[in-house]
Amino acid sequence: MTTAPTPSPAAGSSAAGSSPAGSSPDGHLLELREVHTYYGNIRALRGVSLHVDRGEIVTLIGSNGAGKSTTLKTISGVLRPRQGDVRLEGRRIDDVPAHEIVRMGVAQAPEGRRVFARMSVFENLLMGAFSRQGAPLDDDVARVFDLFPRLKERRTQKAGTMSGGEQQMLAMGRALMASPKVLLLDEPSMGLSPILTEQIFTIINEINGQGTTVLLVEQNALMALNVAHRGYVLQTGKIILSDTAANLAANEQVRQAYLGEI
Ligand code: ATP
Repeated sequence: MTTAPTPSPAAGSSAAGSSPAGSSPDGHLLELREVHTYYGNIRALRGVSLHVDRGEIVTLIGSNGAGKSTTLKTISGVLRPRQGDVRLEGRRIDDVPAHEIVRMGVAQAPEGRRVFARMSVFENLLMGAFSRQGAPLDDDVARVFDLFPRLKERRTQKAGTMSGGEQQMLAMGRALMASPKVLLLDEPSMGLSPILTEQIFTIINEINGQGTTVLLVEQNALMALNVAHRGYVLQTGKIILSDTAANLAANEQVRQAYLGEI
């Protein structure tokens, strides 16, 4: 069994009460309220409410088809909720264009990586910074290369020729180039070996330690709960549990359904 590093801020820590500038009255950096999202007539999210506070790693776990990716796509503006609202720093973003949501501070490393296969590693990273026209990027590239030395070694390689793990690193690095307030990660461990999975989770912890808030979607519930401060369990489009990651990891229902215990 592999173990990811212990999260840095206190588990379940909340910015509530401190009300930093730009936060909602509740202090939440990101918040979904009673969100219903459909694909045509198929209702994928059935009233999802969740929040992410500054400095946290929050994980959303659940089985195949539970609605995890749909939740992230609804936040990033790829899908629009039919009911409910999505707020960043208290401001509604559910009617804001997706590219503008990136500019406001939400960047996603999508499931399946989706790197630009014919572009080099370096060009992919620059694409991630499209929302920051004119901003000096050298420090950001250096930060990404620090987190992922492998990308530095491969900076001129075409992204499509890299391994799955390297492409995952590139997808995360590209999202970080947007300098997001909150980083959305969709199944970063999918298809990776246990060693690479452990490396990716260590890096997620590092990214968070550098001040980036993370919302992490994972089927690998054990790893996700090890690295996160809090978590939500999604089942057929509904949140059925929400607690500190430690409490969820100890919860009998979670252990049976998601941690492979009988
Ligand atoms: P997975 O880990 O398998 O991706 P998930 O929890 O991310 O699962 P979603 O991809 O969000 O689940 O899917 C939620 C529900 O929406 C599922 O019932 C799925 O079949 C449905 N769904 C997802 N994408 C579409 C689509 N493009 N068209 C129709 N239904 C969809």
